Amino acid sequence: MTRFSKRQYVVFILVAVGFLAASALGVLIIAHVIQIAQAFGWVAAGLAVLLFGFMVNAVKALIDRRNVTEQLELENLYTLGQKTSFYNIYQFENRARVLRTKGWLKNKKQYIIAFSFAPLGISSNPRHNDEVSAFNFAIAQFLTEHYYGDRKNPKNLFKSNVFCFHRGEFLIYTFCHDEKDVKELTAKLVQDVYDLGAKEKVRVLVQPFFGVYEANYSDNMTFAIDNAQIARSIGEESFETVTFYHESFRVTTSKDEASEIVEALTNKELVVYYQPKYSLKEHRFISAEALVRWNSPKYGLLSPASFIEKAENAGLISQIDLYVFERTLVDLAEAIKRGRRIMPVSVNFSLYEFFSPNFLTVFVGLLEKYKVPPTLVEVEITETTSQANQFMSISIIKKLKDLGVRVLMDDFGIGYSGIDNLRKIPFDAIKIDKSFTDLIVEDEKTRNIVKLIVELGHRSDIEVIIEGVDNEQQVAYLRKMKMDTIQGFYYSKPLPLDQYELFLKENGFEGRGARK
Ligand code: C2E
Ligand code: MG
Ligand code: MG
Repeated sequence: MTRFSKRQYVVFILVAVGFLAASALGVLIIAHVIQIAQAFGWVAAGLAVLLFGFMVNAVKALIDRRNVTEQLELENLYTLGQKTSFYNIYQFENRARVLRTKGWLKNKKQYIIAFSFAPLGISSNPRHNDEVSAFNFAIAQFLTEHYYGDRKNPKNLFKSNVFCFHRGEFLIYTFCHDEKDVKELTAKLVQDVYDLGAKEKVRVLVQPFFGVYEANYSDNMTFAIDNAQIARSIGEESFETVTFYHESFRVTTSKDEASEIVEALTNKELVVYYQPKYSLKEHRFISAEALVRWNSPKYGLLSPASFIEKAENAGLISQIDLYVFERTLVDLAEAIKRGRRIMPVSVNFSLYEFFSPNFLTVFVGLLEKYKVPPTLVEVEITETTSQANQFMSISIIKKLKDLGVRVLMDDFGIGYSGIDNLRKIPFDAIKIDKSFTDLIVEDEKTRNIVKLIVELGHRSDIEVIIEGVDNEQQVAYLRKMKMDTIQGFYYSKPLPLDQYELFLKENGFEGRGARK
C-alpha cells in the first residue's frame, strides 16, 4: 500500500477543506438564488446573480486601484523627495473626468497643460538633481495652495484646476476661453515659479516648457495627456516655451503598421536570436542576450530597429517584450529538460514595463510556468525617457533582484543612462554603449572614459560589459583595461536557436558534465 508523508496528509486535508468550503459557498449561493426565484421570479434571481458578480468585480477593482495608487505614490515620493498630498496621475485622470461632465463648464474649452522646469547645465551632478527635486516639491506645494481652484477667483468652490506631478512633469487640467487665455495662465505661472525660486533661494537654473492640448469632450483622457506631453517635449527640443499640440507632432504608427505587428505576434513571426557574451576574466562565454527579429513573409527578416519604435508608439512593446521573454523561457526549459548545461540569457525590457503594476506578477508567473530558475534570466533596461531616472520604479528592480534575477543597465553612457542612475539604482551590471566601442581604438579620451567606467564598476562590485566589439584591436585595448565582459560580432553574431545550440556544443556546453 502506498504510504503518504505527514506533509502530503496536511495538503490533502487542506485541499479537501478548501473544496468543501467552496462547495458550501456555491450551494449557499444557489440556494439563495432559488429562494429569490421562488419569491420574486427567475428574472429577479438573474438580476441578483448579476448584482453579485458586479459586487465581486467592484471589490477586485478597488484592490487593483489601491495597488496602482501605492505604486504611483512611491514614484512621486522618489521624484519629489518628500511625500505630498498632491494628486497622482490616476487621481488626476479621475478628477478631470468628473469635472468635464459638469454642465456649467461646457461653455469653456478644456485644456491639458504639461509642463516641466528642465534644469540647465550638467544634470549628472547628484547635488543638482536633489535641488531640482526640492524645487519641484516647492512648486507642487505652491500650486496646490494658490492655483487649486479658479485662478481668477481662488475662492471659487468649483475648483476648476487639477494638478498632478508625474514622471518629472506637472500636469494641469484647466478650463480657459481660448489660446490667449492659456498663454496668460502660463506666463503667470512662469512668473510665480521664478518668484518662488527667488524666495526659496533655489540655485539651479531652470527653463520652463509648456505643452498644451485642447481636449475634446470625447477624448480619451490618457490620449489627451499624452498629446500635451508630446507638445512639451517638441517644444523642449526647439526651445519654445509654450507649444500647442499639432497632429503632425505624433510620430504615428499607422493603423496598418500596428495591425501588422499584432498579426506578427499572433502568427508567431517574431523569432529570438541569441548573442553570446564572453568573459575576458574567465576566458569563456558566460551568458547571452536574447534579441528579437521579425521573420516577415512579406518583408523578409527585419531587424528590431525597424519595428521596436513603431511598437512602442502603438502601445505594443509590452506584448513583444513578454513574447520574447516567453520564447526565451521555452528554449531554456527545453535545454534544461534535455539535461544541457546552459548559460543565463538576458532579455530586453522597455522601461514602460516598469510602470505596469502587474509586471512582476506576469514575470514571476512565466518563470513558474516554465520552471526556469530566476538565476538563469537577466533583465536589460534601456532608458530613453527624459527624467526617467527620477521616477523609475526602483521597487520593481529590487524585487527582481530579490528573486535572484540580475538587472543590467543597457546602453550606458548615452541618452539618460548615466552615472546618476548608478547611484540610485542597484544594477548588477552595466553595458557600455557601442558608440564608445566604435571610437576606442582611435580616440584616447574615449579610452580614458571606458577605463574609468571599468574602475568604477570594479570598486562598486558592478560587472562591466561592453557591446558592439567587432575586431581584435578593440579586444586588445579592452583586455588592457581589464574589461569584464565583451559582446560583439568579434566573438559571435546573434544566432538563431539551432545555430546557438551548435555554438554552445562547440564551446563545451554539451552536457551537465561539460567543461566549466
Ligand atoms: P541592444 O539591446 O543594445 O542590443 C545590441 C545590438 O547591437 C543588437 O542589435 C546586436 O545585434 C548589435 N550588435 C552586437 N554586436 C555588434 C557588433 O559587433 N557590431 C554591430 N554593428 N552590432 C552589434 P539588434 O539585434 O539590431 O537590436 C537593436 C536594439 O533593439 C537592441 O539594442 C535593443 O535595444 C532592441 N531590442 C532587441 N530585442 C528587443 C526586445 O525583445 N525588446 C525590446 N524592448 N527591445 C529589443
Ligand atoms: Mg540589450
Ligand atoms: Mg545596448
